[in-house]
Amino acid sequence: MARYTGPVCRLCRRDGAKLFLKGMRCDSAKCAFERREGPPGQQTPRRGKMTNYGIQLREKQKLKHYYGVLEKQFRLYFQKAERSKGNTGEVLMSLLERRLDNVVHRLGFGVSRAQARQLIAHGHITVNGRKCTIPSALVRAGDVIRVKNRANSLDSVRSAQSENSKMIPDYLAVTESQVPEGIVGRLPAAEDVSLPIETHLIIELCSR
Ligand code: SF4
Repeated sequence: MARYTGPVCRLCRRDGAKLFLKGMRCDSAKCAFERREGPPGQQTPRRGKMTNYGIQLREKQKLKHYYGVLEKQFRLYFQKAERSKGNTGEVLMSLLERRLDNVVHRLGFGVSRAQARQLIAHGHITVNGRKCTIPSALVRAGDVIRVKNRANSLDSVRSAQSENSKMIPDYLAVTESQVPEGIVGRLPAAEDVSLPIETHLIIELCSR
């Protein structure tokens, strides 16, 4: 699937929220969101009151940018959530949180989702003992995510682990045997998403 390849700090500034897209830099004084107030672009005037549509759109964009998914893929997640029996907003959040690139990042194996995505695409990660190179693959409860027992795989993951200061969410557990390994204890719920999102705004927008 295609992915956004442009500058990422401007996404945080445009969405008005820290999306933590750059790993360690996000927690440092270099964070562009902290240093430069307001949306990106030269001499951008401060906007007046946003319309309802604008507020809903911004919330959707924030969620897409946070998980690194583009519009088409996001719509597929939304349709899947809508067809499911549960609450659409909660199912949507759970689906996004179950993405393999997100899980690898939240286990601390990659400092950002983009790095986790690259680790997966380059074949450094296995799921239940089988190589998986699809960042959007959805994990299930009981899945075991393991780093390949190769020097270059272990080096990049160990350095990410040493830099990572974020808490590992409840639904995941990390075990350190010969290689770093993570287990999906249960399916994630909407509360496990670390970004505050008002899902009802997204549902209203996407249901039009
Ligand atoms: Fe966003 Fe991180 Fe850039 Fe700060 S450093 S603006 S949190 S991507």
